[in-house]
Amino acid sequence: MRQAIRATAGKLNRSEELLDDEKEQAAAMLIANPGFGNPHVVRCSWCHETRTLFRDEDDAPFKRTARGWFCERCEVHAESQEVQF
Ligand SMILES: [Zn+2]
Repeated sequence: MRQAIRATAGKLNRSEELLDDEKEQAAAMLIANPGFGNPHVVRCSWCHETRTLFRDEDDAPFKRTARGWFCERCEVHAESQEVQF
């Protein structure tokens, strides 16, 4: 389920065409699972890696910190943007 929300969030962030009710479905899944929180698009301005992550997720090269994510490859704080449905 998170994977579906993540995919939709990634598309929203890239302003891609969404299927008719894709955004509504993702929004409904988030409402049904308030513990998920909104996904964030995390991007390193140095190596340009981008991931769509929930607040409790790490995915290399990004490491979760108390405030946002850190790119371990570049040793810099990554930019992150919350995706609102
Ligand atoms: Zn980086």
